[in-house]
Amino acid sequence: MWAFALTGALAACIGADRSASGEPALSDPASLPPASLASGKRLSVVATTSIVADVVGAIGGDSIDLHALVPPGVDPHAFEPTPQDLGRAAGADVVFLNGFGLDGRLAETLAAAAVHAPLVSLSQGITPLTLEEEHPGGSDPGGIDPHTWLDPNNLLVWVDNAAAALSALEPAHAAGFAERASGYAASLRALDAEIRQMLQAVPPQDRRLVTDHDEFGYFARRYGFTIVGTVIPGFSTGSEPSPQELASLEQAIRDLHVAAIFISSVVTPDLAERVAEDTGVRLVTLYAHSLSGPGGPASDYLSLMRYNVAAIVEALSPQAAGDGSAP
Ligand SMILES: [Zn+2]
Repeated sequence: MWAFALTGALAACIGADRSASGEPALSDPASLPPASLASGKRLSVVATTSIVADVVGAIGGDSIDLHALVPPGVDPHAFEPTPQDLGRAAGADVVFLNGFGLDGRLAETLAAAAVHAPLVSLSQGITPLTLEEEHPGGSDPGGIDPHTWLDPNNLLVWVDNAAAALSALEPAHAAGFAERASGYAASLRALDAEIRQMLQAVPPQDRRLVTDHDEFGYFARRYGFTIVGTVIPGFSTGSEPSPQELASLEQAIRDLHVAAIFISSVVTPDLAERVAEDTGVRLVTLYAHSLSGPGGPASDYLSLMRYNVAAIVEALSPQAAGDGSAP
């Protein structure tokens, strides 16, 4: 009923709230007008995914009220906001998105529901990867890779965008936003160095990934990995492989002696489990799209990356050969 009710609003908004490309119109973070805040009120900030919220929260600190729409453990590719989510977004001073289509359906729904809060994509300014770049010569269903956060260097752009937007909205707190942005950027650079150090345990010839869908392109490019194949074709979790595609993936796993299939904590593992059973390789769950929630091993972005890299090293390093235990 809610989706039906939105249809009319969507039609009314086309042209008004959407860009010519069909994507929801995004705001330039540095050009946002100052928010009109009542005395003693903090900026009301909504973020789409838990990872977007974590990074925005690191920059906003105590100066913002922050709410994430997609709960930990939920697939952002398939997320549908509730009327309550839309109400919260409608009352916000800004909505931060991952961008590049990850939260595109959500962004479209916000625009369609006449949520007038400015939409800021944290990935704005990153040069996106395409499937053709990730798999030269392969079939390319189109689209760009939204999984920018899996290379911490891309998050330096996120930090700049978040700090620019928050400072434009509340210039009185710009110095605090800039200071936290600078500190968080230093943490990201240290994380990149730490990841390189951890990955020294995986020889270049073993840096091969099979994943549930195409989510590790930016990570692979940064750290010298090859994506051998994916269980689900493409950059989202919504499509299905053909029997031929699955057979060809299983053959590649056998031919290349791939040690593990890495799946995201938010996906249904059935197909990947079948491929793992057929080929006799391990299935390793990573926090690729979502934090773990408080108290878990990936309760913030920096922990998430450390957890994922440790699990990859554990599965692919020569010492792991023959060890069938989970990380
Ligand atoms: Zn994904």
